[in-house]
Amino acid sequence: EIAVELRNVSKVFPADTKADEDLAAIQNVSLQIRHGEFFTLLGPSGCGKTTTLRIIAGFETPTSGDVFIKGKQMNDCPPHHRPVNTVFQNYALFPHLNVAQNIAFGLEMKHTSKAEIAERTQRVLKLVQLPDLGARKPNQLSGGQQQRVALARALVNEPAVLLLDEPLGALDLKLRKEMQIELKHLQTKLNITFIYVTHDQEEALTMSDRIAVMNNGQVLQVDSPINIYERPTSRFVAEFIGKTNFLSGRVLAGSSRETSMVLAGETVDVPLQESQWMGGDSVTLAVRPEKLQLHHDVPAPNGYRKIALHGQVREAVYAGTDTHYVVVLQSGEEVTVHMRNTFNHNLGEF
Ligand code: ADP
Ligand code: MG
Repeated sequence: EIAVELRNVSKVFPADTKADEDLAAIQNVSLQIRHGEFFTLLGPSGCGKTTTLRIIAGFETPTSGDVFIKGKQMNDCPPHHRPVNTVFQNYALFPHLNVAQNIAFGLEMKHTSKAEIAERTQRVLKLVQLPDLGARKPNQLSGGQQQRVALARALVNEPAVLLLDEPLGALDLKLRKEMQIELKHLQTKLNITFIYVTHDQEEALTMSDRIAVMNNGQVLQVDSPINIYERPTSRFVAEFIGKTNFLSGRVLAGSSRETSMVLAGETVDVPLQESQWMGGDSVTLAVRPEKLQLHHDVPAPNGYRKIALHGQVREAVYAGTDTHYVVVLQSGEEVTVHMRNTFNHNLGEF
């Protein structure tokens, strides 16, 4: 079941002056977000994440395209009539109201009864683990507690969809990690659709059911964290999520089982079918540092094929769980290798 759908949504902000050009904040964004999903918009600053979220919330009108929530077209539906709530990075709590009043505010606007407001406020305060802080003012709370209140204020409306725009961005690293786990637990427990915005790739990989990677106003790939990491479909995605080595290659010839190519200055057989490439094609091979291993001698093939390249260790940095090596290949290209077990090396070896 689809909770939120965007169909070819674009947003152009007109230029302030004649000299400026109009700015396409997002271009032809199409997404289908499932009910109960933890869905993350991930990308660098300025790529259009907030604009996408604001269009779903109704704070921004698309220049073209359609938004559907629970199957209903939302183009003319004002924000407060949409079954969504938003949690912002800067909390946006009312400073003159106490915690309970902040949470109750939306319900009072809807003329909910006093008894029900009290009951629901207490319930969400428990949910975000602040059962005893209802009487405090926002400035008497830590950053993490304020963020929990902002979350409670959104959850008290029992939205079908919760929109979260970098909600943990203002917290320090340790608290952010704790809140990531808490948020994920809460989302699973409540079975609410979360649409979560972050520029932090690790946060996205840890929390999400699926991730949409954005750049320059466009969605480049929508996939599970594992596929985003293991099977990036573009150089941008491979580079943005984790560390990746890129090696230049030239295809010599292919067969149905493998392709012969010159890779980083050496001729190797890569287990890729010929059909995609022709002799003479230039290619780029992307490989994660932890998928590479260093050996003193070319190891005998065992079971599945391995590509062996020669190089010299230029740098070795001990990093606790693994050691990071920089290796210079015959072409002069450098690769980074992350190895669990320490390789008995000398710099300049090979
Ligand atoms: P992100 O949240 O990924 O950092 P935004 O959605 O905030 O990106 O912004 C996308 C682009 O649209 C940026 O270039 C930004 O400057 C521009 N933009 C966002 N809001 C407005 C606005 N109200 N007026 C003009 N330009 C805007
Ligand atoms: Mg933003």
